[in-house]
Amino acid sequence: MKDCNCIFCKIANGEIPSATLYEDDEFRVILDLNPASKGHALVLPKEHFANLFEIPADVLGRAAGVAKKVSEKLFNGLHADGFNLLQNNGESAGQTVFHFHMHLIPRYKGDTVGVGWKPGTLTDEDREEILALSRQE
Ligand code: AMP
Ligand code: ZN
Repeated sequence: MKDCNCIFCKIANGEIPSATLYEDDEFRVILDLNPASKGHALVLPKEHFANLFEIPADVLGRAAGVAKKVSEKLFNGLHADGFNLLQNNGESAGQTVFHFHMHLIPRYKGDTVGVGWKPGTLTDEDREEILALSRQE
């Protein structure tokens, strides 16, 4: 299921060189070219899945295992103070490359990495609507 026009397919499968931190049969972990912080890395499956909704749960689970292993190494080796593991789905969520990937972002005290939101208020109406939705088969 390789997408010939997809840059992350080419990187993950070694057709385009990358700064690779980890590789196995199924995944490649590379350094982000435009890092949010020192050590910002991306977990790429070698198979093409556009997003969270396309990637099978078992592949996602193994990707999480790889993310944990590499994150621990980066966190310790770079003496980070914190860590964000994040993954964007859809343009409105900030996804710019439509090949599933997880961001591993080391965080340092006082850094200016902008991962956050303005907290809202859970309304009664939203709570009931969403709880009802979650009970549907
Ligand atoms: P997203 O916005 O979640 O789709 O993340 C895409 C990420 O891929 C961004 O952080 C980019 O800086 C990064 N990126 C795009 N092209 C490359 C590339 N050729 N090599 C490494 N990182 C890349
Ligand atoms: Zn792809």
